[in-house]
Amino acid sequence: MKVAILAVQGAFIEHEKVLQQLGVDCFEIRKSSDLEQDFDGLILPGGESTVMGKLLHTLNLYDTLKKKIQDGMPVLATCAGLILLAEHLTDDDTVHFGTMPVSVKRNAYGRQIGSFYTEAECKGLGTIPMTFIRAPYIDKASPEVEILATVDGHIVGARYQNQIGLSFHPELDENTAIHQLFLNTIKKAKQAA
Ligand code: GLN
Repeated sequence: MKVAILAVQGAFIEHEKVLQQLGVDCFEIRKSSDLEQDFDGLILPGGESTVMGKLLHTLNLYDTLKKKIQDGMPVLATCAGLILLAEHLTDDDTVHFGTMPVSVKRNAYGRQIGSFYTEAECKGLGTIPMTFIRAPYIDKASPEVEILATVDGHIVGARYQNQIGLSFHPELDENTAIHQLFLNTIKKAKQAA
């Protein structure tokens, strides 16, 4: 199993460390030739979605990655990564990959003081730590989207087919349950292939 991590901007190193800790082979996607190798799963990290969205086009990564996601490649998208997946942004006409039928509100907790830590239930995983940094949340989800977690009545974790989208940053806490959930999704996708 090999996991690719989008590494054009943002918090990608932290995901790499978690995967290394779990003994999973991973590599960084920085340029289009990085997409020539095979991989089984993709991580879209936190960072700045506007910048990442632009770089996806400038670096010629967008079309290939979008096709892979549409074709069922398992994806773990955290924070800005969730914004990249959203079919719709609540206060904005921008659409990046648009592969997850949810409406996402950027900087939903405010830009400056919007960072906080909590612990909450995630479906199938029990209570897990959740670190939010200028985080978005999902304010609308199509019925076929599975809600994984809510905090204060807002959706902060969801799954659609093989795409897992989170408002928070599981790579910043010790608990590896989310990454294991992602790895199980990859295993199931490989078995089904
Ligand atoms: N506020 C950022 C954005 O809108 C996301 C923040 C994050 O990824 N930690 O892109």
